[in-house]
Amino acid sequence: MSIKTKLSMIMSCSVLVILILNIALSYYTTEENLRQDSENKMVLTAKQIAISVEQNQYSSDYVKRQIGNNLWLASVMAANELDPDIRKITNEELVQLSHKLGVSHISLLEQTDDDIIVSRSSDPREIGLSTKSMSYWYQAFKQLFEKQQVTIPQGQKQDHFWSDGFEYSTSSPTDIDIWGYYHDGKRNYIINPFYNNNEVDDYVKISSPDEILTKIREVNPSILEITGINPLTFASPDMGEDGRDENYRKLNDRPIRFGTYQYGSVDEDHRAVVRAVRTGQNVSFVSETHDQKVLKNFIPIFTPNKPSYVISIVMDYKQISSMVSEQLVSHASISLVLLEIVIFGSYLLAGYITRPIQSILGKVNDVADGHFDFRLKVKRKDELGQLANRINAMIRNLGHYTSRLKQMYEENRAVKEHLESIINQTADAIHITDLEGKVLRVNRAFEQLYGFRSREVEGRMLKIIPPEAAEEMARQHAQLIEGLSITSNETVWMKKDGTRVEVSVSTAPVRDEAGEITALISVSRDITNRNRMEELLRRSEKLTTVGQLAAGVAHEIRNPLTTLRGFLQLQQQSNKLNHRHLDLMLSELDRINLIVGEFLILAKPQAVHFQDRDVRFILGDVISLLDSQAHLHGVEFVLRASSDSAMVHCEENQLKQVFINVLKNGMEAMPNGGSIYIKLKLDEQAKRVRIEIRDEGIGIPEEMMPKLGEPFFTNKESGTGLGLMVSQRIIESHKGMMDIKSALNRGTTVIIELPASEQQTSLPEADQPAEEQQPDEEN
Ligand code: ADP
Ligand code: MG
Repeated sequence: MSIKTKLSMIMSCSVLVILILNIALSYYTTEENLRQDSENKMVLTAKQIAISVEQNQYSSDYVKRQIGNNLWLASVMAANELDPDIRKITNEELVQLSHKLGVSHISLLEQTDDDIIVSRSSDPREIGLSTKSMSYWYQAFKQLFEKQQVTIPQGQKQDHFWSDGFEYSTSSPTDIDIWGYYHDGKRNYIINPFYNNNEVDDYVKISSPDEILTKIREVNPSILEITGINPLTFASPDMGEDGRDENYRKLNDRPIRFGTYQYGSVDEDHRAVVRAVRTGQNVSFVSETHDQKVLKNFIPIFTPNKPSYVISIVMDYKQISSMVSEQLVSHASISLVLLEIVIFGSYLLAGYITRPIQSILGKVNDVADGHFDFRLKVKRKDELGQLANRINAMIRNLGHYTSRLKQMYEENRAVKEHLESIINQTADAIHITDLEGKVLRVNRAFEQLYGFRSREVEGRMLKIIPPEAAEEMARQHAQLIEGLSITSNETVWMKKDGTRVEVSVSTAPVRDEAGEITALISVSRDITNRNRMEELLRRSEKLTTVGQLAAGVAHEIRNPLTTLRGFLQLQQQSNKLNHRHLDLMLSELDRINLIVGEFLILAKPQAVHFQDRDVRFILGDVISLLDSQAHLHGVEFVLRASSDSAMVHCEENQLKQVFINVLKNGMEAMPNGGSIYIKLKLDEQAKRVRIEIRDEGIGIPEEMMPKLGEPFFTNKESGTGLGLMVSQRIIESHKGMMDIKSALNRGTTVIIELPASEQQTSLPEADQPAEEQQPDEEN
């Protein structure tokens, strides 16, 4: 959903809520107001009714008084007409008299033994009726007959007794008649004229407020019923549903004094009546009668000197509800129209607000698609304007950085391709493994050297380490993990087909950005060919040396041979064997044998065979081989060696080749003779054997120093320029070190260090041939 729709929805919803609240509130208040209004109206109506009831009461009292007066007049006149003795009066006479006097009937009361009864009457139904039940009136009658003073408070006493007109029913209990009793003390009966029901009804009709009630209801049709309720007798146990009560029939006693009682619900009405009288306030409530909702009002009416009563007005509630619903409908329709306007307006407003957002969104989408070559046009100064400004800046930066990124990516790719091609084109086999030894990648040269395809080994452990090298590799691995590199380690590895290959391996740890070692890179080179070349060089150098030595050897052999010849001639001449001479001859023969043996060993190509050998003996052998040649050049060897053994794990002949070469170089550097000092020392702590060979020759110029050891570098006419190179290679293959120090015209010192063997065997003094051989050359 877009912001625009959301915004307009939010606005419309809030307006809708407000409208609904407003309708609910006004519904409630309208209903309340209408109710209040109609209540007030009811009270007003009730007051009017009360006034008219009061007026009616007055007029009714007045009429009653008039009737009473009429009855009195009729009594006085009847007394004039009638005989004082009741026995002379007939009922017929009374009928005529009542017609004449304008009353309904005239009855005469006579005293019997135990009662006072009607004995003559114009109404035959009255005759014989007892008056005993008339309580205080009966008492008065008795007193009148017995000529006593009337003691009851009712009635007039002076001159003649007159009861005054009062409502009472005798022969027919439902009829209420108006009665009067007259006695003048001159006759034996009491005159009793009365108006019967019909006439009374007439006046009651005139005096009842029913007329007014009908009028009010005509004017106000929503008033269903108006009832005058007598709080004293209302809801007595004998009262019927319609409000009639047999016990209270007299007008003033009736529970319902006027009006009808058809919408009543006695219990709740009684409560309301009691409350209204007690509080003096209007009581109103909504009730349900005859399946109809009605509003009932109970208004208490208090008039001075008269019993209070309650006017109940029952209203049809339909009017209020219909007014309320009318109001509701009109309210709702106005609200609907308003809501439509608001929805439309808010949609327009939201559109106005969100238009810039939408244009920003469009541009941002373009940016997301990778277009940076535009700017948002900003006119506004509000937050949206600021946003657009920031987005412009962002687009600018994004464009900048993206092009930088692209450029860097291109550079990276070029570098990567370059590296890739270097790695693949290089003749050295490269393989990268993780720390466990699983192959991450290998290059083409690796595939060619070891015969594995890259997909065969990548992700797997390499099988190029032969079992005999496993221990050494484990040692190296430990070093690598500690961060050390291993360079040019010459070893033998294994191809896929199991054949061995001599390789020189350099291995280094690869670190990630955090500096953690994550992989190992190994560069290995096949050195089989190189080794073969070196072997050839070594042999050619050796043969040259052998050739050069040949002269010395010949000389060496000729001397003893001359000695032998001399002795043999002497034997021949003397013809007898001199034992002393034989010993000398044998000794000379042994010497020849030794030299020739040495020479043959040197010249003959031999299988490489490392053994533990004492350097003292090797040096001794070399010195004895070169000794005679040294003598030829006027050079002497001075050997200083400690008495300790100096055992080295070595290929004896190769070491001899080194020493011969170094000593020969020294001799060649001293054309006019001199001494060559040879020092041998075992450094037990460093576990190394140190050999120092110092001559007193011409020395080596500074600029030549870096070139020493290069193949074929020589400044001698018959030199090969291989000697130092071969020597260096041999020492390296013994894991040793060779160093040359020189001072021009003063001499040269060659220092060779070799790792000492673990086991050093100490020999007795006498077995040290070097020292024995040159005892006088020590100093
Ligand atoms: P060659 O002896 O055949 O010349 P080498 O490799 O043994 O080859 O020596 C190379 C060169 O180094 C020699 O030609 C010489 O110039 C120089 N050199 C070697 N040893 C000495 C030395 N002890 N004193 C002076 N120069 C030396
Ligand atoms: Mg040499």
